Amino acid sequence: MGRPLTGQTDFIALLTDPDLLQLMLFACPDGVIVTDQAGDIALFAGASEAMFGYEPVEVMGRSFRTLIADAQSHRRLRDQLDRHTNVSNMEVTAARKGGTKFSAAFSAAVMRDRYGCVLGTVYYVRDHSGVREIEDALRSKNAQLNHLVSKLDHLAHHDQLTGLLRRGSAMEEAEDVLLASGLERPNFGIAVFDLDHFKLVNDSYGHLIGDKVLTSVGAALRKIARQDDIIGRLGGEEFVAFLPGADLAAVTAFAERARLAIEGTRILLSDGLTVSVTTSGGVAAIPQCADSLIDALRIADDRLYAAKRAGRNRITSDDINRDDNRSAA
Ligand code: GH3
Ligand code: MG
Ligand code: MG
Repeated sequence: MGRPLTGQTDFIALLTDPDLLQLMLFACPDGVIVTDQAGDIALFAGASEAMFGYEPVEVMGRSFRTLIADAQSHRRLRDQLDRHTNVSNMEVTAARKGGTKFSAAFSAAVMRDRYGCVLGTVYYVRDHSGVREIEDALRSKNAQLNHLVSKLDHLAHHDQLTGLLRRGSAMEEAEDVLLASGLERPNFGIAVFDLDHFKLVNDSYGHLIGDKVLTSVGAALRKIARQDDIIGRLGGEEFVAFLPGADLAAVTAFAERARLAIEGTRILLSDGLTVSVTTSGGVAAIPQCADSLIDALRIADDRLYAAKRAGRNRITSDDINRDDNRSAA
């Protein structure tokens, strides 16, 4: 039995034993390649054969460049070695026998003798093609997940039938805009709409046609709104428009345009006839009518019902009929 090894120096001394050295080189799970001063392959060991598909005799004496897929990758590796004498895990496109390319991590060091003369270069190569595939698969899964999250987010905030914001989300967006304006009392218009005698549409033509009417009304509102306006479906056949920067006159003009657009919308039935609806609306504005969104919305709502009582298919922007309505309600 040999003397126990007590340190690295003892062990390195053993490496002069060619059998042991060979065992170490060939058991290595990475490719181990040594090139001579001219850059020609002098050793092709470890996992090199399995990775590149060459038997050692096929590549011995051939240029190391044989193992790299393109001149640019080879130059990058060489430049780094010339500059720093070693390379750590450089991602390089390698080439298998037959030309198949694969991604590999190259680590390398230039070997010199005691006088500084270059003896050659030792390379350790790790096949990264599996890693790349996993990375690509993860990237694709991530993209799918992000898509799903934004879809769920859209579903959570938008009404499925009309695609408009749901009541809560429209209110939140309006509050955010008001807060972000930085002004104490910014101009902000509010218009609420309720379709007239909508129950009759459902009763006469069925729910599907009623749904089509609601979708068309949503589209008509979106069409006349500006980019920054917030259009929402409050529920049922009720809609809201929040207009940042609009005073009472501006929001009244908008509501009037909306009323006309809704009145002009036609839903074609299978027998060639068309269905149309009208809407009543109430408007209010911050700061002319109220200081808070909730108060302005309540005033707009009161005015909407004043419009209903005054005969429907109209917009109310003042309180003329408001008290009458309250006593009538
Ligand atoms: P008014 O002029 O007083 O507003 O009368 P109206 O018939 O429009 O009001 P009412 O509140 O009596 O009826 C509203 C109708 O809206 C009843 C309900 O079935 C219908 N509705 C609510 N949501 C939907 C929906 O998503 N699709 C369809 N097709 N109908 C809906
Ligand atoms: Mg209603
Ligand atoms: Mg109605």
